[in-house]
Amino acid sequence: MPLKSFDEYVALAAAAHGHMCAGQILGLRLAMHGMKLLGIDDPAGADRKRLVSFVEIDRCATDAIPIVTGCRLGKRALKFRDFGKVAATFCDLRDGRAVRVVAKESSKQRAREMYPEIEDRNAQQMHAYRAMPEDDLFDIQWVRVRLGPEDMPGYKAPRVTCAECAEGINFKREVVRDGRLLCRACAGERYYEPL
Ligand SMILES: [Zn+2]
Ligand SMILES: [Zn+2]
Repeated sequence: MPLKSFDEYVALAAAAHGHMCAGQILGLRLAMHGMKLLGIDDPAGADRKRLVSFVEIDRCATDAIPIVTGCRLGKRALKFRDFGKVAATFCDLRDGRAVRVVAKESSKQRAREMYPEIEDRNAQQMHAYRAMPEDDLFDIQWVRVRLGPEDMPGYKAPRVTCAECAEGINFKREVVRDGRLLCRACAGERYYEPL
């Protein structure tokens, strides 16, 4: 089990996220469940090089995941895939296995049934998500995640320069078009339009 108690994680998550909310409780439980399934006892400490996490939504629950796992975007140990789902996949690099944990659709309804006397939805769900057994909160699936060396924390390779915009590109994120090395923006994946 993770080294910290649930209440310690709650305090850390509240400080990092700016408030405590049902999403945070769910995210903490989700990450702790993932660590338990993988048998990772000290994700943010002794086991910190063992873990890469994928998150699938940019909402409250996601902010709680680095609190437990120690996986951060800036360390390349946290990967964001914007699928709009309250789900995360935890990859154990040492044992070469991965588990995807998904919040069940039924959990909100379950919260209403458990605490009908609490009118505030957020408070109702916070109470319920603390108390509910993991099987009521989450579905899990064991999965294979293909992580190339360029996706790993600590990957080192020469930086290349885009033939179009001349900006530097790290981690093999360049693409080749008609024999030219391009960044993904110049290759057509731009999410912004220059003014
Ligand atoms: Zn929140
Ligand atoms: Zn470019």
